This record gives sequence, structure tokens and C-alpha cells, in this order.
Amino acid sequence: MFVLSVSVDLGLFSTKTLVEANPEQLVEVRTQLCQPADENWDASGQRKQWRCESIRSYTTIAKYAQYQAASFQESLREENEKKGQKELSDSETTSSETVSRRHKGPFKQVKFGTNIDVSDEKKWKLQLQELSKLPAFARVVSAGNLLSHVGHSILGMNTVQLFMKVPGSRTPGHQEHNNFCAVNINIGPGDCEWFAVPEPYWGVMSEFCEKNNINFLKGSWWPNLEDLYEANVPVYRFIQRPGDLVWLNTGTVHWGQAIGWCNNIWWNVGPLTAYQYKLAVERYEWNKLQSVKSMVPMVHLSWNMARNIKVSDHKLFEMIKFCLLRTLKQCQTIKEALVAAGKETVWHRRSRDEPAHYCSICEVEVFNLLFVTSDSYSRKSCVVQCQDCARKASSDLDGFVVLQQFRMEDLMQVYDQFSLAPALHSSAS
Ligand SMILES: [Zn+2]
Repeated sequence: MFVLSVSVDLGLFSTKTLVEANPEQLVEVRTQLCQPADENWDASGQRKQWRCESIRSYTTIAKYAQYQAASFQESLREENEKKGQKELSDSETTSSETVSRRHKGPFKQVKFGTNIDVSDEKKWKLQLQELSKLPAFARVVSAGNLLSHVGHSILGMNTVQLFMKVPGSRTPGHQEHNNFCAVNINIGPGDCEWFAVPEPYWGVMSEFCEKNNINFLKGSWWPNLEDLYEANVPVYRFIQRPGDLVWLNTGTVHWGQAIGWCNNIWWNVGPLTAYQYKLAVERYEWNKLQSVKSMVPMVHLSWNMARNIKVSDHKLFEMIKFCLLRTLKQCQTIKEALVAAGKETVWHRRSRDEPAHYCSICEVEVFNLLFVTSDSYSRKSCVVQCQDCARKASSDLDGFVVLQQFRMEDLMQVYDQFSLAPALHSSAS
């Protein structure tokens, strides 16, 4: 995890420019309680807690911009009133006293404008062009970014998202999908405050969530810092000023809140390293056990990597090769079972840019052999299931069509041709 100052034209992402560019764009709104930055209290202000719920609604950029501006004006007015009162009473209160008094609530409600999709290259041309000036390691698209090899967009991962905030807007604790890295730039004008815990402590964090009856992967939680100090969990706490790029490394657990009025832009990156690949695959497997969808289709990605990338790192190479072998075996086993059942597969070549498939029932990635209900197949909508779910619905696969996207010979050829590339030297042209 690190913070560096970048020279991006921040004005392109200011609220004024956003309203001029795309006033009607959809904004997801999270209504939250405005709390002291390092604490999370229940609504009554009696007890600190891990759970942090927020209510979801939707608005547009133009409407959120009005709210953001009104909130700023209101705060200026309050500030002036306070100043007036202070001069009258002439008594000194320190800022920490003001904060501690707020512990008891009631807390003001704040609205956090989140998950604004900045993927459309026509709507956001100037903005996306500007971001291509970033150094390669932080760019949304680059040859060294695993997510650029998925071959299709994963909204909010290999595309840009935007947040619009007022003070107190909170991003609850989480790791990025499949333990990928995150890049976050604060547009300003206000600051953001961040908390981060190194990846190896994710298990401890998960246990804390469990103790508090919250699902670590799907729930919404804000760690109690005292709990973490007692458990010797290191917490990095830092301020992100306008123009600061925060890099969150593979699997970093993090949460944070806006101190001032600001916008942020954000996306994921996957460095082409054994460490990133390993942790992505581990989370992929863990997600299966927890019935959580893996946003990164690691099997599909691994086959693309074998086709398109020269891998010179021995460890990374071995892991990819192992993944290919395992899926090849799975495909073969499924094929054999189909032959035994007298069920033929229907050839259905993958089209260019076709997204990876997921089971519509259990949400696991389905690679190559797609179990499609006959109904949906005849309607050409092709609702995909995995073998397990299809067999549960019908043990002899009655009412299912099995589509095959790759020839086994082709897969075996990719597997055979994927070999360790010689290490690149800096002198190589
Ligand atoms: Zn399934």
C-alpha cells in the first residue's frame, strides 16, 4: 500500500464538469450516519459496533451535485453560526471536545454517491483519455494488468468508477474482488481518511466479523480499532489529499471515509505476478465454499493468459499450467459422463469478446461445457448452469442441452504450447 501524487487534470472529474458532461447518469446512493472517522456507533449512540448498515437508493449526477453543494453551503452557515456563538460566550472549546460530545448522537444522515459507471468511452472520452497518461502499473488497461487479459469488461474492476462524497461518506471494510489491487485517486477539493490492514490478517478480520454475526465477504462492517489493537492487528491510517493516488496491494483489507467534500475515481489492477495470481485463485476457491460469485473468471482468464502472454516467472507459470491441467481434466470427466449417458454436446463456438459464463443457480464459473435448459435454448436466451446444478434438477439431464465452446484438441494444443518463456533482460529490445 502506498500513496503518490499524480499529475492528472483533476478538473475533468470535478462536480461541475461531471454535471456538464453527463447530468442524467445514474448514481447509487447510500444513506448513512455521519460518525467520527475512527468509530462506528449504533443509531442510538450508546454502543460501538462492527455492523454498519446503509440504505440504498438511486439518483442522477445532476441531483447528487445539488445535494453536495447544498450540504457544503449548510456547513458554511453552521460554521458561521458557531463562530458567532463562540465570540459571544468567549469560552474555548477544543475540537476534540466537540467530537467527543457527538458520540452520544443523534447522528446526522449523510448521502454517499457511489458506483457511478465511467466505462462508456463516448460519454467519458476526455476523462478516460486523461487516465491513460498514468504510469503503466496504475493504468486501467495495460499489457501487464491481468484484468486486461479477461477479454471483456468487468464493470468497476477493469472499468473506472466514480464516487461523489460529502463529509462522513463511508466505504465499509472489504478486500477487492478476488484479492486484486485497487487504484484510487482523490479529485478533491476535500480530503479522505483511510484505514488499511495487510492481507495476511484477513483471516483475523473475518473472525471478528463472524463474532459480530456479519458475513466478511458480503456484509457491511466498520472495524472497532480497539478490537484490532488488542488482537495485535497492524492498522495503517492515512490521509489522501486531492491529487493523491492510493495503491492498495493484493488483498489489502481497507475502509475509509471522506473528511471533506470530494469525488474519487477508482478501478482494479492485477499485476502479472505469482503472488497476485495465487491470491486470486485462493479467493476464487474460497468464494466457491462461501457461495459467493467470483467477479474474476479465473479459469477463463488462465486460458487467455496461456494463449496471449509469455510467462517467464517459474512459479506463475507452474500455477497457470496446473489450472489448465485441472480444467482440462474436468472437461474430460464431464465429456465421459455425457457419453456414458448417451448425451451429445452441441457445438457452440465462443464468439469474440463473449463474456465468461456463470451458473445461473450457484454462480460458479462454467467453462467450455455449458448446461443450458432446453426452454431457454429454444428461445435463444441460453440460461447457463453448471453440471452439478443441472444434475440436481434432472439426474439424466432431461430438459438440458449441453453446449461445447472449445474443441478438446484445441485446448490440449494450448496446454502443450504454453511453456516457460526465457527471462527477459533489460537489454532486450
Ligand atoms: Zn451451479
